[in-house]
Amino acid sequence: MKFGFRYCPKCGAPLEERTVGDQIEPVCTRVECAYIFWQNSKPCTCAVIENDRGEVLLCVRKHEPDAGKIDLPGGFLEFGEHPHDAIHREIREELGVTIEIEAGIGFVMDWYDGKEVATLNIPFVAHIVEGTPTPNDDVAAIQWKRLEDINRADLAFRNNETILFELYANYRK
Ligand SMILES: [Zn+2]
Repeated sequence: MKFGFRYCPKCGAPLEERTVGDQIEPVCTRVECAYIFWQNSKPCTCAVIENDRGEVLLCVRKHEPDAGKIDLPGGFLEFGEHPHDAIHREIREELGVTIEIEAGIGFVMDWYDGKEVATLNIPFVAHIVEGTPTPNDDVAAIQWKRLEDINRADLAFRNNETILFELYANYRK
């Protein structure tokens, strides 16, 4: 199964993958239910937080996937949550600081947990307006680095590289 789901979340009957429009979706095999379990990319948000020395804030991931690798602070949006609210919440949870958003710098598609979950990543450029960043939650440590000092091989997930070296680098040009 492409998505790994076996049973209908509404009635519990087995799902089967069918072509719906031009996509494959899990569909309930019980005719009276026929629920289409629509699958979408999961929205995530992250922040490129700058300081006045021209450095950006990077987090060392505490948990799998990619524990020990470098990540931008952020996370998954909650149900019905606006990306602006999500990034303020995630930064408070992970770093204990308040940020001000300067700009959204685009969208990046990626995968999480191998190919299990498709992600839609929404990055912002931001600045700390209150507090001193302290690693919390799923962050093991933080570091401030200039873009040119970041080793691409240390980065978790492909979207971090795209966000930092394409979207953010172009935004700052
Ligand atoms: Zn069903």
